[in-house]
Amino acid sequence: MAEFTMELNDEQKEVRDWLHGFAADVIRPAAAEWDEREETPWPIIQEAAKVGIYSLDFYAQQYFDPTGLGIPMAMEELFWGDAGIALSIVGTGLAAVGVLANGTEEQIGTWIPQMYGDVNDVKVAAFCSSEPDAGSDVASMRTRAVYDEAKDEWVLNGTKTWATNGGIANVHVVVAVVDSELGSKGHASFIVPPNTPGLSQGQKFQKHGIRASHTAEVVLENVRVPGSCLLGGKEKLDERLARARERAKSGGERVKNAAMATFEASRPAVGAMAVGTARAAYEEALEYARTRTQFGRPIIDNQGVAFQLADMRTSVDAARLLVWRASWMAVNGKQFTAAEGSMSKLFASETAKKVTAQAIQILGGNGYTREYPVERMHRDAAIYTIFEGTSEIQRLVIARTLAGMPIR
Ligand SMILES: Cc1cc2nc3c(=O)[nH]c(=O)nc-3n(C[C@H](O)[C@H](O)[C@H](O)COP(=O)(O)OP(=O)(O)OC[C@H]3O[C@@H](n4cnc5c(N)ncnc54)[C@H](O)[C@@H]3O)c2cc1C
Repeated sequence: MAEFTMELNDEQKEVRDWLHGFAADVIRPAAAEWDEREETPWPIIQEAAKVGIYSLDFYAQQYFDPTGLGIPMAMEELFWGDAGIALSIVGTGLAAVGVLANGTEEQIGTWIPQMYGDVNDVKVAAFCSSEPDAGSDVASMRTRAVYDEAKDEWVLNGTKTWATNGGIANVHVVVAVVDSELGSKGHASFIVPPNTPGLSQGQKFQKHGIRASHTAEVVLENVRVPGSCLLGGKEKLDERLARARERAKSGGERVKNAAMATFEASRPAVGAMAVGTARAAYEEALEYARTRTQFGRPIIDNQGVAFQLADMRTSVDAARLLVWRASWMAVNGKQFTAAEGSMSKLFASETAKKVTAQAIQILGGNGYTREYPVERMHRDAAIYTIFEGTSEIQRLVIARTLAGMPIR
């Protein structure tokens, strides 16, 4: 097990500086344009592919970094550049992690390369879990997957919503109900290969922030996928369902805890995205406060402004530390005894919302316009308290863990 450290090693610093260069030189200058266009920034994704940032290799290297700091460091730098564009770049990684975590070696080798495409023809992937009536309440999911034994095919029917890259993805990973008696333990994940008949894009959402990231409904009408598209395979699913049925009979406690551990492990990554946005807004505000003069002196010379900056910086650093701790715990298999993953996501996302609002205040009228980036950052920051579990759900998880209660 790697010791917890608050310092990046030399190799990590090199990667961080390289990512920061890409974020500063390529992502940030393009941010306002793609925010206005509300379109997937394909040329930027292609640039990221050319330099090796948009690739499974890069993502896997950070994911398996034993210190746990690889993913948070990468997320912070890319989202420092711009949240919408960064989500377009890392959205595929979120779907790929679903396959890495649950897929067989053959599935990983077959589908993940198709998620990314190649440098000359980049592709994206989507992870589709949320539904119109199943947001926070994942267990009320309705999309069904029924096995057609004669053809060794699964038939998927239902409507997914809020899918990042939904409908424009080359590969969709779809979570569906295979046993409705078992709540979220009766769910399984499926690959829907490129151009599969029956999958279509529904409404594309016009959003408040992260507008360079495509978000849409995905409609599944009698979508037939080969048996080999069930992630992990049928044998493993049957074993898992049998275990879940046994545990459900004996109270279900261990089932709930296992599900919680999975979410706890993925939440710090979202916290790190929020840290990136918060830090970006803080830096903009600091620079502005140093250079904007009123009453014959820089506005930072007023304690009212300087104290705000002090609070902003303190919150950003505190958020990063919670994220790093949770990420280290996840990578090193430490038990989340106080929902530390949820804590990190809760604190970092609320920090991003607050710090970006403070940044607007410090920039005054300029902060309220699209001439300066903090207005966009504030709109972007609002997503962090919503996706991957809202702030209320994080508080619910933390509180229930502290009380020794099951999560659901
Ligand atoms: C831009 C964007 C991208 C997304 N990307 C994806 C994606 O790629 N794939 C995917 O599957 N999903 C994605 N999502 C979905 C996201 O995870 C959900 O929006 C989120 O889980 C919340 O669900 P909901 O919107 O249905 O809100 P609801 O669950 O309806 O919640 C509404 C409000 O009620 C509160 N609430 C609900 N239950 C409780 C409770 N028990 N106690 C206290 N408060 C409660 C919530 O906190 C919230 O404030 C995305 C969403 C957005 C907006």
